[in-house]
Amino acid sequence: MIEIALMDTEKAGWKFCPFVFCDHCHLKIEDAKMAIATWNDEGRVRHFHKGDCSRAEPRDPYWSQLNEHLSHTASNAGVKELEFGFDIYDV
Ligand SMILES: [Zn+2]
Repeated sequence: MIEIALMDTEKAGWKFCPFVFCDHCHLKIEDAKMAIATWNDEGRVRHFHKGDCSRAEPRDPYWSQLNEHLSHTASNAGVKELEFGFDIYDV
């Protein structure tokens, strides 16, 4: 699931930041290449770390690599390139 977390950033102080959380262990997914998005026939999307987390849940019929899923999602929302309204900072 995608949720907002309040993060204390080194350069910009406290900021609301969107993160993808694993639908099994509920931890942040911090390496999209090591995670997947799955979905069912109704279009419900779930996100999992690859491995133990993805194997622990009932399988959905469809899946893709999380990095590809997020790229397609952004593209389908009209994002043509990475857009940040602020300088990129370490969180
Ligand atoms: Zn997980």
